[in-house]
Amino acid sequence: MAEETIFSKIIRKEIPADIVYQDDLVTAFRDINPQAPAHILVIPNKLIPTMDDVETGDEAVLGRMMTVASKIAREEGIADDGYRLMINCKQHGGQEVYHIHLHVLGGRPLGPMLSRG
Ligand code: AMP
Repeated sequence: MAEETIFSKIIRKEIPADIVYQDDLVTAFRDINPQAPAHILVIPNKLIPTMDDVETGDEAVLGRMMTVASKIAREEGIADDGYRLMINCKQHGGQEVYHIHLHVLGGRPLGPMLSRG
């Protein structure tokens, strides 16, 4: 059984977060340490620790994460100039929180890759 992270508490609104969207499958909120003028995380309400844990049965929620990311990018005003979607997986991918999250980043030219320095 996977261990819950702080993101489960955000979904249940047990700790504060700047939630910009929530439905039956996903929750989206502003990253606490933004790496770009717009930086939002879209996560499944169900705990899936990493991309290595996704199953065929998760296709609906994974698809919803994508459509919600697109909608949020439009609402944030970053869609016309473009943006980046990113999911880090495990240690080599730089994953810090083991509850999959789709980073939506934009609002400035992001270059060929993002570096946290
Ligand atoms: P990753 O390295 O892909 O696992 O990214 C984890 C992200 O979660 C980082 O960008 C953090 O700034 C962000 N983060 C961690 N805790 C919180 C929180 N309580 N609220 C919002 N974002 C968070």
